[in-house]
Amino acid sequence: MNNDSKEVRLQGTPICRGVSIGKPILFLPAEETVPEFNLNDESLEAEIDRFRKAMRLSRKELETLQKSLYTEDLHESATILESQLQMMQDPMLTTHIEHAILSTRKNAESVFQNQVDQYKIKFDTIKDPFFQDRFRDVQDISRRVMGYLRAKQRLSLASISPDSIVFAKELTAADTAEANNAAASALVTEYGGPASHAAIVAKSKGTPYVSSIPLEGIDPSAHSLAIVDGRTGEVILSPNLDTLRHYQHIRSQLQDHLDKLEDIKNLRPETFDGYTVRLSANIEMASELESLHIHGGNGVGLFRSEFICLSQDSFPSEEEQFAIYKELVEKMRGLPIVIRTFDVGGDKCLSMQQNKETNPFLGCRAIRFLLKEKNIFKSQLRAVLRASAFGDVSIMFPMISTLSELLEAKEIISEAQKELKSEGKKYGYVRIGCMIEVPSAAIIADLLAKECDFLSIGTNDLVQYALAVDRSNHEMSSLYTPTHPSVLRLIKLIVHEATHQGIPVAICGEVAADPRFTPLLLGLGVHELSVATRYLPAVKQAIRNTSIVEASRLAEQALMLTTASDIQALLTQEYKHNSPDDCFYNY
Ligand code: PEP
Ligand code: MG
Repeated sequence: MNNDSKEVRLQGTPICRGVSIGKPILFLPAEETVPEFNLNDESLEAEIDRFRKAMRLSRKELETLQKSLYTEDLHESATILESQLQMMQDPMLTTHIEHAILSTRKNAESVFQNQVDQYKIKFDTIKDPFFQDRFRDVQDISRRVMGYLRAKQRLSLASISPDSIVFAKELTAADTAEANNAAASALVTEYGGPASHAAIVAKSKGTPYVSSIPLEGIDPSAHSLAIVDGRTGEVILSPNLDTLRHYQHIRSQLQDHLDKLEDIKNLRPETFDGYTVRLSANIEMASELESLHIHGGNGVGLFRSEFICLSQDSFPSEEEQFAIYKELVEKMRGLPIVIRTFDVGGDKCLSMQQNKETNPFLGCRAIRFLLKEKNIFKSQLRAVLRASAFGDVSIMFPMISTLSELLEAKEIISEAQKELKSEGKKYGYVRIGCMIEVPSAAIIADLLAKECDFLSIGTNDLVQYALAVDRSNHEMSSLYTPTHPSVLRLIKLIVHEATHQGIPVAICGEVAADPRFTPLLLGLGVHELSVATRYLPAVKQAIRNTSIVEASRLAEQALMLTTASDIQALLTQEYKHNSPDDCFYNY
């Protein structure tokens, strides 16, 4: 504890439950710093090429943008872009920079930034608004070009020490995965919603996480100790002795509760009146499988395959993927695994992609990306099919919104199977499923169910798309309500259609991992819950604490309520009644 500082209490939004006490560190993303380093003789040419490529891609992007502005008759805006395109031909921004890279032997972004700084000095002395506008153009060009230059230079959280509490403006899913690997003690961010992919990654490890903490004017690293309460959203810097003791006590209570839950690992996930549910795991990497086996999960209901390439410069080859999937399948020890094809886009942007869409969540994401980039899709499917020769594998498509997408994706699987057969490569039988994450898919669940072996409801996205609330926007978090009556009705509809078609339906969104939702989901008729391995014990306990009769009654009651908050209150009250000693949810 820092005896020199006064205790500082901050209130944010709770994202991942748990309490941590650790050393605060401030994580600044690459965008806020321009790296500068020296180049050796061999890398000079490559650096010039890298700069030219960044300029070329930026120009192409501007031209496309300009074309669409002309199509929409927005001539004035298109003319502004014209002047930017002309500026990009200015030798000061082209040959001059190339010469400066050669003469200074510095990396392209530092030379480029230096040039922008020179422009600023020049334009600052001229008060004419025309020149001020020109400088804004330079800044705009600079942001675009820097975006391409820096794509490869993400700072990493991989090497922080295990008791660190990471404070950041925002964390990507890849940052969070790195922080998890380094066993970060807790995360605190200014931006980031409860169902963002960074939040999901934090939850997979149970790393306490609080968002909506404004970092303006606060330097967390000036404090030697911090406490994060991921249940209440409280963050305390330089806690006094009483506060520290209080939270040390809570932390050990929470640990005792988790330890007690370990006792049920060998028991079945069945209600006390004998209704058995499949309880599977959501995983992002093979190392999580150990925890699946320890907690007695029934299989993997969702492998988020995109995590194998989130911080890579390119998609792995078929051979590289085959090795990864084969290892995964072998580590399943005969249990089934559902491999979801790459769900990239949205808030999961690969480091080699520059996400320039205005609405990435409504853009070229998941199946849309895969059907556009058929070579990438086919090589993933071939790798998964080859791995299916070694165990029980299902393939699942993310973000299906029309029947034709599903049919096209199935066609590509058939093509891949034919190719493998003619090449003499082995593959096994695979079940094919589709995620229901978009209201249009929920409404045509009957049509999709006819073409699938199973459905899996991705409530994280279903809530976002049904309620038109960005899942990663912290300012909208109060509107991101999985208990909204529309969400319950959509789930009911999907379950009804899947059951009618005789295929199972799972839920793999975050609500499946919240034990307060367990009786409701069982009561709505869901057959399988898939949750981060860490939540397997808590959800199994919640299943065992309920009866299917009680669950059906609760679902009926919830479906009659009219507001998200009333439904939430009903679930909380029921949970308190069934599990009074769970200090993660009752405090
Ligand atoms: C979901 O949307 O609920 C889901 C499980 O997929 P993801 O969180 O990876 O988008
Ligand atoms: Mg999703």
